[in-house]
Amino acid sequence: MLTRSALLWLSGHEGVKDFAARFSFFKKLTSRFVAGETLDEVVPFIRELNTENCSASFDHLNESVESAVEAGREVEEYLKILAQIDQSKLRSNVSIKLTQFGLGLDPELAYQNARRVVEEAHGRGNFVRVDMEDSNVTQVTIDIFKRLRAEFGLNDVGIVLQSYLRRTLDDAQELVKLPARIRICKGAYNEPPEVAFPDKKDTDDNYVKVMQLLLSSGVYHGIATHDPKMIDATIDFATREGIGKEKYEFQMLYGVRRDLQRQLSRDGFNMRVYVPYGKHWYPYFMRRLAERPANIWFVMKNVLKG
Ligand SMILES: Cc1cc2nc3c(=O)[nH]c(=O)nc-3n(C[C@H](O)[C@H](O)[C@H](O)COP(=O)(O)OP(=O)(O)OC[C@H]3O[C@@H](n4cnc5c(N)ncnc54)[C@H](O)[C@@H]3O)c2cc1C
Repeated sequence: MLTRSALLWLSGHEGVKDFAARFSFFKKLTSRFVAGETLDEVVPFIRELNTENCSASFDHLNESVESAVEAGREVEEYLKILAQIDQSKLRSNVSIKLTQFGLGLDPELAYQNARRVVEEAHGRGNFVRVDMEDSNVTQVTIDIFKRLRAEFGLNDVGIVLQSYLRRTLDDAQELVKLPARIRICKGAYNEPPEVAFPDKKDTDDNYVKVMQLLLSSGVYHGIATHDPKMIDATIDFATREGIGKEKYEFQMLYGVRRDLQRQLSRDGFNMRVYVPYGKHWYPYFMRRLAERPANIWFVMKNVLKG
């Protein structure tokens, strides 16, 4: 049986991607987690979320680009998304990955590209969330974010921290002082024990510590999780501290726990759904499989059925 780390390893291997993509069932399965391949296909999903009182975050999938030209095309796509949000009056912001903007080629290129998108968002009164990738790029992602944050406002650009990283509580303490809008999540990559807690309980305990720090800071943060324990801990803490529902938002992924998304939104909590789309769905999809063994069985059943 494929383990979490084996799936995460596979997520980074292009050869496997090309092999897997030949099977139409595999592509079909991606639709559970990926809203479509083009911007036009995704807009109706976001509109539907908005009618259910959920906001969204567009994510164009294409991490680790290999040329400056490709990175430039990603910038163009995000400028198109921001224009589309305005034109269609959607309640949505955008999430970007710095490797998508050329971080692996040249950090300065990634900064300049991210800057163009944040500047556009600023002009349109929108917001850019810088996703966090694997621990090789944690520091450079934070450094680039700080440069952006120094130039733009609190409500123009935010960042993500991962509670499985040992360094995260320190990072959170430093970043809230800027101040900065932070999305806390558990973390989705394959990390060695030197940098990340191998034990889920430590990741969860750290999540609660960071969540409490964020909620106490008075800034509007994102609590990204599908874990009922983390959600209950957030609601309990906020209630105890007299922190209103309007002061933070829950965030979940497209295709995961739609029932819980609807429930929280009906209960009056702010709910944002992260909606990925694009042709380069493979690494994102594999990370979602790795998060939950039942998803792997779902794939295996379809393979066996032919
Ligand atoms: C809005 C958002 C943005 C994110 N951004 C980043 C980022 O920038 N960087 C990063 O490293 N990670 C990111 N993640 C992923 C995150 O780090 C986790 O890998 C993911 O959210 C699973 O963790 P969990 O908190 O849901 O808890 P878990 O303990 O993993 O899961 C709790 C429960 O949620 C359900 N669940 C969780 N995942 C799945 C799934 N894939 N399919 C079906 N059910 C599932 C299951 O019922 C599970 O028992 C993001 C997650 C969200 C929601």
